[in-house]
Amino acid sequence: MKPAPFRLETPRSLGECVEFLTEHGDEAKILAGGQSLVPLMNLRLAQPSVLLDIGGLEALDFVEKNEQSFRIGAVTRLRDLERDANVAESQPLLAEALPYIGHIQIRNRTTVGGSIAHADPAAELPAVLLACGGTIKSVGPNGEREIPANNFFESYFSTNLEEDEVIAEIELPRWKPACGWSIQEVSRRHGDFSLIGIACRVSCDEEGVVTEAAAAFFGVGATPSLAESASSLVGTKADDEALRQVAEATTAELDPPTDIHVSADYRKQVGGALARRSLSIAYQRATRSIT
Ligand SMILES: Cc1cc2nc3c(=O)[nH]c(=O)nc-3n(C[C@H](O)[C@H](O)[C@H](O)COP(=O)(O)OP(=O)(O)OC[C@H]3O[C@@H](n4cnc5c(N)ncnc54)[C@H](O)[C@@H]3O)c2cc1C
Repeated sequence: MKPAPFRLETPRSLGECVEFLTEHGDEAKILAGGQSLVPLMNLRLAQPSVLLDIGGLEALDFVEKNEQSFRIGAVTRLRDLERDANVAESQPLLAEALPYIGHIQIRNRTTVGGSIAHADPAAELPAVLLACGGTIKSVGPNGEREIPANNFFESYFSTNLEEDEVIAEIELPRWKPACGWSIQEVSRRHGDFSLIGIACRVSCDEEGVVTEAAAAFFGVGATPSLAESASSLVGTKADDEALRQVAEATTAELDPPTDIHVSADYRKQVGGALARRSLSIAYQRATRSIT
């Protein structure tokens, strides 16, 4: 299949990109890594008449760490993040998630902004952003906006972003000391989209008592979602009984769909098991850094 005819524009700045978006409205689409948009165009499921190629905007290709946070420019490629020792050291949950996303060839092209804007409910990065309490920074005709990840994802492939806005960067809070992490997912083959997955982080004090636990599921509904049950680990030492209770509460809490791949019941049962496994690993990693 070939895409419908379109005009390709290459904005030289974020401002110019916003001008194009304002001018062309829903006729225009941003092209970043093209790994999702181009297949959709080839299948004629998307037929933008104007494509705005931002992949070469160097101002949006950066990784920057400061005292409070870790910022990543929207067109930064996933493969570059994967090879960046700074990412592995400063954002271990993100680093652990990257190899799960497609294959190296896909990650060579896929951008951070594209993965977040595409908002596939089975995608890893939106869940990582949610579990970390990250923020999406966008730019539009009315200026900049900072959108917390928990307000950004609205439905299947649908976000809080306006038609004339572009994601400029994402921001993750600085990783805390004594904070462990884990990402677990089930997919048919390595590199496939997940059938269900979870990204989590657990912090503890010097006694090994959990002070914070956050977990975000992906592949369980229209958007990535925070697991309420994870917070019940706070105040415990994540012993077997506490983890068993989290698993049970997670299975009860999840309300996933049945689809052609697996049933809702499968996702509920596996969700509980993944919550238990990932929180246990995250806790062990958290305590390792205090002993
Ligand atoms: C074989 C295969 C396997 C894959 N497996 C996985 C997987 O396991 N996990 C996973 O998460 N993904 C997977 N993907 C999806 C891949 O990571 C996509 O490329 C990604 O979701 C979109 O990123 P992109 O940079 O290619 O964006 P594009 O395809 O260029 O754009 C996607 C959408 O986002 C919009 N957009 C892009 N950048 C911006 C921006 N800065 N601001 C506003 N809107 C923007 C575009 O207009 C478009 O609507 C897979 C893809 C393939 C082909």
